Amino acid sequence: MPDSSAETNGLAAPLAPVLYHTLTVEQVAADLATDPVNGLAAVDAARRLAENGANLLRETKATPKWKLLARQFEDFMIWVLMGAALLAGLQGEWIDTAAIVTILVLNAVLGFVQEFRAEQALAALNELSAPTAHVVRDGVESSIHASELVVGDVVVLEAGDQIPADGRLQEAAALQVIESALTGESEPVHKSTVPVSDPNASLGDRVNMVFAGTSVAVGRGRVIITSTGTGTQVGKIADLLAEQDDEQTPLQAELQRVGKRIALVVLVIAALIFAEQLATVFASTGDTFAEAINDPVFREGFTQALLIAVSLAVAAIPEGLPAVVTIALSLGVRRMAEHNAIVRRLTAVETLGSTTFICSDKTGTLTRNEMTVRRAVIGFDGVSVSPDWGIEPADLVPHADDLALLLQMAAANNDARPKPGGGFIGDPTETALLEASSRLAPGHLRPRRVSEVPFDSERKRMTTIHELQGERIAFVKGGADVVLGLCTHALIRGEVVELDADGRQRLRTSNEKLASGGFRTLAFAQRTLSPDEDAEDESIERDLTYVGILGLVDPPREEVSTALAQCKHAGIKVAMVTGDHALTARAIAIQIGLLEADAPETAVITGTQLASMSDEELCARAEDVRVYARVNPEDKIRIVAALKEDGEVVAMTGDGVNDAPALKRADIGIAMGNIGTDVAREAADMVLADDNFATIVEAVSEGRTVFDNLQKVILFLLSCNMSEVLVVFSTAIFVAFFPEHGLLALLPLQLLWINLVTDGPPALALGVDPADPTVMDRMPRDSEEPILSGPRLSEIVWQGAVMTIFSLGATFVAGPMLGSNDVAENTMLFTILVLSQKLHAFNYRNSRGTVFSIQSFKNRWLNIAFVGTVTLQILVVHWPPMQKLFRTTALSAQEWMLVVISAFASLLVMDLVKIVIERRSAARETHDRSVEAR
Ligand code: ADP
Ligand code: MG
Repeated sequence: MPDSSAETNGLAAPLAPVLYHTLTVEQVAADLATDPVNGLAAVDAARRLAENGANLLRETKATPKWKLLARQFEDFMIWVLMGAALLAGLQGEWIDTAAIVTILVLNAVLGFVQEFRAEQALAALNELSAPTAHVVRDGVESSIHASELVVGDVVVLEAGDQIPADGRLQEAAALQVIESALTGESEPVHKSTVPVSDPNASLGDRVNMVFAGTSVAVGRGRVIITSTGTGTQVGKIADLLAEQDDEQTPLQAELQRVGKRIALVVLVIAALIFAEQLATVFASTGDTFAEAINDPVFREGFTQALLIAVSLAVAAIPEGLPAVVTIALSLGVRRMAEHNAIVRRLTAVETLGSTTFICSDKTGTLTRNEMTVRRAVIGFDGVSVSPDWGIEPADLVPHADDLALLLQMAAANNDARPKPGGGFIGDPTETALLEASSRLAPGHLRPRRVSEVPFDSERKRMTTIHELQGERIAFVKGGADVVLGLCTHALIRGEVVELDADGRQRLRTSNEKLASGGFRTLAFAQRTLSPDEDAEDESIERDLTYVGILGLVDPPREEVSTALAQCKHAGIKVAMVTGDHALTARAIAIQIGLLEADAPETAVITGTQLASMSDEELCARAEDVRVYARVNPEDKIRIVAALKEDGEVVAMTGDGVNDAPALKRADIGIAMGNIGTDVAREAADMVLADDNFATIVEAVSEGRTVFDNLQKVILFLLSCNMSEVLVVFSTAIFVAFFPEHGLLALLPLQLLWINLVTDGPPALALGVDPADPTVMDRMPRDSEEPILSGPRLSEIVWQGAVMTIFSLGATFVAGPMLGSNDVAENTMLFTILVLSQKLHAFNYRNSRGTVFSIQSFKNRWLNIAFVGTVTLQILVVHWPPMQKLFRTTALSAQEWMLVVISAFASLLVMDLVKIVIERRSAARETHDRSVEAR
C-alpha cells in the first residue's frame, strides 16, 4: 500500500517541522491528508491514533501493584521492627521473628488493600473529569475524549473551551484566545485565518494557530489539528510544567503536625526506656563492654530491650492514621461522584463540610435551563405564545410584519444549530429562540451572517451582521433593559418612530411586567449600517431601532425547594447570583422559596447598585442579600470577598470563562458539568455532573459525613493508643514498686498485634461509616477549630483510661480469684484490651445517643471488622501455633466470662460518661441559644 505509507511518513515526526502558520488552509489540509469540511474518516482517525499515540502530555498510569505493596514497608517504625526481627532470628529466637513477620505481613496486606481501593476511586474520578473536544469526523460533529484526537482532525472551538491540541485555524469568528499559560501574555490574542509570512514568527504572533494548554476567551473557531500530545508546543516544554503536587488537606496537614509531635515525644521516651532496659541487662551480666558484645545473654537482652522500646513507640504513634484519612477522603470523593458531584481537589471534601454560604447561579442550577418562548412584546404591548405555538389572542396581532421580522431576527442572531435527528443544539436560550422561530414562522431562511460581536455575560447582548438586499444590517439581541438603552427608535406597526420618553416608559413597563412573571426577556433591535462603516465591534451597537421582546420561561428544578429547606435547617445561607433581570430573578427566587413573597427590596441587589457600594457597605449587607441580579462575573469576586470577610465559608458556582477568578477565590468553586466551560471546570474545586443545585447540598452533606468519619477514626485510634500506652506504663510503674509481684505486662509482640492488626479494620470501617441521619440538622462546623481541640483531647484520655482500668482491674483483681496463673492473666489482659477496644468502635456509630441501640449495627463493615478481629483474637488464644507466637494460653470458660464482662463494663461506663457529657453540652447549647435570642 504505497499511498498510505507515504501518508504516514508525512505524519510521523518529519525532520524539519512544517511551519503550518505560513501555509494556507488548503495547503495544511493537503499536507495532513484531511478534509477541512468533513474532517477525517473515523477509520482513518482510529488508524492514526494507533500509529501515533494518544493526545496526552504524560502517560498517567496507575501505580503498579508491587509498588503499592512495597510502599507499605516504607515506614521508619516498620524498618526498625524488621531489624528487630532479624536480630531475634540471628539469636535463634525464631518464634519472635515469625511473630513479627506475621504481624508485618498482615499489616502490609491491610494497607495494600486500602490503598488499592483508594487508588481505584481516584482513577475513576480522573476518568470522569477528563477533558473533551468537539471533533468533526465523517462530516458529523461529536464530543470525544481529548486524548483521542489525532493530527488532521477538525475541531470546533467555542468560548470557554480549553484548546486540546495545536492546530491551524480554518475559521475564526471574533475568536480571542488566552495564551498566558504558553506565552505569558495576559491579554487575549485576536485570531484570524490568514497565513503569517514570517516562518520564524514567535508563538504569540502565529495568530492563525491555536495551541494546546490555552483557552478560548470569546468567539468561535474551527481548526485542523497539526500536532498532538508531546508534539505540541506545550508538550515540548512539558518538563517545565511542575508535576501536580498532591496537595494536603488542612486536616491532613494538622494530623501530620500532631503526628510528628507525638512521634518526637514517644521516640525520646522509647529511647530512654531502651537505655534503661539495656543498662539493667548490662548490670545483671556483670560484663565489661568488650565481653558484652559476645555474651549471648546480653545480646538477647539487647534484642528484647529494642523490642520493648519499639513496641511502645508503635503503640503510641498513630502511624496508620494518615493512610486511613487519605482513604476515607478518597472513598468520600467516590461516593460524591456517585451523586454527581465530582471533586477535583481532595481539600474540597473537607471544606465542603464546613460550608456556610452557597452562592448559586440561577439559570440551569436552580432552574432547569429548559427554555421556551411563551410571551412576546410587539410594538408596545404583550401577547402570549401558547404552549401549542399559536399567538394569543390572535386579533392582538395586527403587526404581522413586525412579528415576522422579530422571528427572523431570533433565528438569524442565533448560534444554535439544527440537530440531524430533529431539534437543535446550542445554548438553551438560543435553541428556544430558534425553536419558536421555526414553529411560528416555518420556512423562512436564516440570512447569511457576515460578521458578529459575540455574546458575553458582561455585555449581556450579542450582535450579528447580515447582508440583506445588498445592505448590511446589524441585529442586536440581549437583556431587554440593556438593549432598550441602546435604542433611539422603535418599529411600530411597520413604521419606524422616534422613541420618546413616553414610548420608552411603555416598553419598560411591558418588559417589567414580563420579568415579574419570571420570564427571561430578550429584546431585539436593528440598524442598517452605512456602506463606509467598517467597525466590527461594540461601537456598532448604537442608534438602534427596537423591534420586539421575547419572554422565555425556564421552570425551576423540582428538587430545589427541598434542597433550600435543607440548607436552612443546616444553617447554610443561600444567595442567587444571576446575570438576569432583577424582577425575573426575584420572581424565580419566590417560586423556589428562596425569598418570601413579601421580602423587602433590600433582599435583592442589582449589579448597578453593587457598583455604587463600597466594600464595607457590601460586607455589612452581604449576609442578608438573597438575590444578586444583573451582575457581571467580576461582581462575583467582590461578593465572595465580602462574604469571606464576614467569616463565611463560601461555595460559588459558575459556568463561563469569566467566572474562573471567582471560582478560584471562593472556598469551594463549583463548575457546571453540562453547560459549563472547560475554563470554569479547570478553575473549580468541584464539578456538578448534572448542574443541579440539589447536588451541591448533597455534596455538603457528604462532606460533613466524611469529616465526621475522619473525626471518628482519629478519636478511635488515638483513644486505643492511649489505652495501650497507659497499660504499659501502669504495669511498668506497678512492677517498679512491687517487684515481688512479677506481673506479666503486655508483651511487645502483643502490643504490635493490637496496633498493627486489630485496630486497623474497625478504624477503616469507621472511615466509611454511613451518614448520620441528622448531619444536616446541625449548624456548620467551625472551620477554624482544630480537630484535636480541648474536649476531644480529654475524650481520648478518659476513654483510654476507662479501657485501661477495666483491663488491668479485671486481670489483677479478679484474675487471682479465679486462680489464674501468670500466663493466663497476661492472656486475659491482652484479650480484654483487644475486646474492649473493638467494642469501643461502636461508640462512634452514634455520637449523641447510647451505644446500646440498633443504630450501632448499621455499619456492615464495622460488624465484619468486629467479627473478624475477635475471631483472630480467639485463634491467638486457642490455636497452638498462634499461642506459641504470642505466648498465650487457652482461657477457661470462667476466664472468658471475666474477659467479656469487663470489656462490656468498660463499654457501659464509656457510654454513660458520653451521655452525661452530651446532655450537659446540649443543655448549655439551648441555654446559649435562649440567651442569644433574648
Ligand atoms: P445567568 O446568570 O442567568 O446564566 P447569563 O450571564 O447567561 O445569566 O445571561 C445574562 C443575560 O444576558 C440574560 O439575562 C439575558 O438577558 C442575556 N442573554 C443570555 N443569553 C443570551 C444570548 N444567547 N444572546 C443574547 N443575550 C443573552
Ligand atoms: Mg447563563
